[in-house]
Amino acid sequence: MSVGVFDLFTVGIGPSSSHTVGPMRAAADFVSRIDPIAVARIEVDLYGSLAATGHGHGTLTAVLLGLEGLRPETALPEQVDHRRGAIARGDALSLGGARRIAFAESDIRLSPFTELPRHSNGMRLKAWSDDGSLVDEAVYYSTGGGFITREGEAPETTPDHEAAVPFPFETADELLAHCERAGVGISEVMSRNEQARRPWPDVRAAILHLRDVMDACVRTSIAREGVLPGGLEVRRRAPAWHARLVEQDPDGTDPGLWQEWVNLVALAVNEENATGGRVVTAPTNGAAGIIPAVLHYATHHAVPVIGATRDDVTVRFLLTAAAVGALFKARASISGAEVGCQGEVGSASSMAAAGLAEVLGGSPRQVENAAEIAMEHNLGLTCDPIGGLVQIPCIERNALAATQAVNAARMALWGDGSHHVSLDQVIATMRETGRDMSSKYKETALGGLAVNVVEC
Ligand code: SF4
Repeated sequence: MSVGVFDLFTVGIGPSSSHTVGPMRAAADFVSRIDPIAVARIEVDLYGSLAATGHGHGTLTAVLLGLEGLRPETALPEQVDHRRGAIARGDALSLGGARRIAFAESDIRLSPFTELPRHSNGMRLKAWSDDGSLVDEAVYYSTGGGFITREGEAPETTPDHEAAVPFPFETADELLAHCERAGVGISEVMSRNEQARRPWPDVRAAILHLRDVMDACVRTSIAREGVLPGGLEVRRRAPAWHARLVEQDPDGTDPGLWQEWVNLVALAVNEENATGGRVVTAPTNGAAGIIPAVLHYATHHAVPVIGATRDDVTVRFLLTAAAVGALFKARASISGAEVGCQGEVGSASSMAAAGLAEVLGGSPRQVENAAEIAMEHNLGLTCDPIGGLVQIPCIERNALAATQAVNAARMALWGDGSHHVSLDQVIATMRETGRDMSSKYKETALGGLAVNVVEC
């Protein structure tokens, strides 16, 4: 079993992969297994982090849209907006698109202080028939990055995940050993694994599609003025920053302004995510701005030695980033509710640093070093979003983590690949730190900035 590129990078809607994308998928999965015509009422219980920050993360709406049969990868943002508005105005729920049933807000119960045994993001769904008998009941867990697990079943996998690959790995040591034995870089190992799942032209096209969605996300965001939804009155900065940057640096390649461009891309993606717009989960929605921002640096400001074209650089960058993301997914967690923000922003920064080091010509050990540096200095990072919204500290944090990733790659490339702390050791430390972290700091909005900053 090996995590693939398209397990880590998926197209979804904001603001949260674990609290929006996962619950929508879970609700859609629940409905897909029952006959909607036989159901008169639905009850939903949200537990732990899903209940604590569900309002701010759009979980309740995501569940309702999932019950209507919408899935995050195919639902259009305008479709989501339309149904969100209609349901808020008291429209009936169109269960699985097959039967309209009444649904009151009290049909979703929140239990923030109850955690189900398997994961802090737990939810229970019940379907009742016209005569009041139970049609079906199921517990789901949203385990980060949009992945879900149904109680009693194995963790969700994709056909990609299950495919036999030539270079299976779960640790950085195993990954580096493959590189050494085959005499290839990390992106090539990942490429050959992906080619065991689908032909190379399809892999390449699908990766470039992800890049196109990232670019479209930035374009949409810089065209939107005003404040972000949710009540915190956070002003969108990306449109004004973009206008100012274009004035100073029309072709976007001024070496003195690379950091401003990286900041801009990260802010734009995360402002769009906070709006509930379409983003690429990379590896989560809260951390979705880091990889596009560093990829922008790689294709506009750096001098890559791998890849003849921007498309080639993009493909190699994202393959390498996914290889590192697979390590975090296999050996620790990419869920803020499980290990704090180190699992989201830390993992994304590490993945981006690796992608950049690879396209700048780093050896596999230098690439591993870049990923290790970026993660090491995010260890212990807590998750404490104000108002449970993916806005403060999330948006600025993406920009900072992106520039940190650039620095981590540069530091690694100035070394020879030998270093004191291995990536595997850092990943193990992240997992243990996350386990020891108080639940106040794991996406519950019960600690840190979330309690020390007064909401207006
Ligand atoms: S603080 Fe980090 S983990 Fe928490 S919601 Fe924001 S980006 Fe996600």
